[in-house]
Amino acid sequence: MKNTGLRAKDQLVDVVARVDLDRKKAVAAVVAAGALAGAGFTQAMAAVTPVDRIVPVAATSELAAAMTGQQQPEAMKTIHAVDTAVETRNLLQAEQIQVQHHVREALRTAEGTYAKRQEAIRAEAARQAAEAARQAAEEEARRPKAVKPAQGSFTSGFGARWGTSHNGVDIANAIGTPILSVMAGTVVEAGPASGFGLWVRVQHEDGTITVYGHVDTIGVAEGTKVKAGQQIATMGNRGQSTGPHLHFEVWVGGSQKINPVGWLAARGVQL
Ligand SMILES: [Zn+2]
Repeated sequence: MKNTGLRAKDQLVDVVARVDLDRKKAVAAVVAAGALAGAGFTQAMAAVTPVDRIVPVAATSELAAAMTGQQQPEAMKTIHAVDTAVETRNLLQAEQIQVQHHVREALRTAEGTYAKRQEAIRAEAARQAAEAARQAAEEEARRPKAVKPAQGSFTSGFGARWGTSHNGVDIANAIGTPILSVMAGTVVEAGPASGFGLWVRVQHEDGTITVYGHVDTIGVAEGTKVKAGQQIATMGNRGQSTGPHLHFEVWVGGSQKINPVGWLAARGVQL
């Protein structure tokens, strides 16, 4: 066993001697050769060393002395035999531990980055939601409390007309002109009405009902909540009508028909 070890050492030294490198690199080469000798190196050794078990020699003080050409001290005959399989396994385990460590580190870093990014996304979403709410509130505050029911020509006023009573005002324009709810409220009726063809009636907060007659199309239904200025119908020529126009009435308290001109003017709207 001892002889085998020495012969193996000689082989190693021979290998090292043939590696034309500086000493540090040579030591590294020997250590690497010893550690990774599982297949190639051991087989090479077996070719010249007819023994059952090849035992390469690790880097020792003896080896270092041999490499530098120094005489091996008599007192230092200790040979450190190395089981290549064990060495290889240990090295691989050490490397595996290091790799696992790096992977854990990388995962920790990635998780931290992800969490920060998610936090930033949540903060940005909250900021945008707050901004949207602020804009909506501003828009709502700017929304007029009362508007003109339709654009067009004022063609007929409230009162006696052709020997009868005209209970509203007429605004003439093209068929399809938008008709708007003059104030916020709830649609209480939307459909056919005698003389008006089709009409829409909207009740407002104070109980007043506004009436929109002769409409061509209806865009709301009974129960629909509408805002001031929201389109509820389009101008038409249905019923007893002499041309495309809106017939608009105001029923105070839900029944008393009054002149819409003054009522609208009191709310800042001129016809
Ligand atoms: Zn009319």
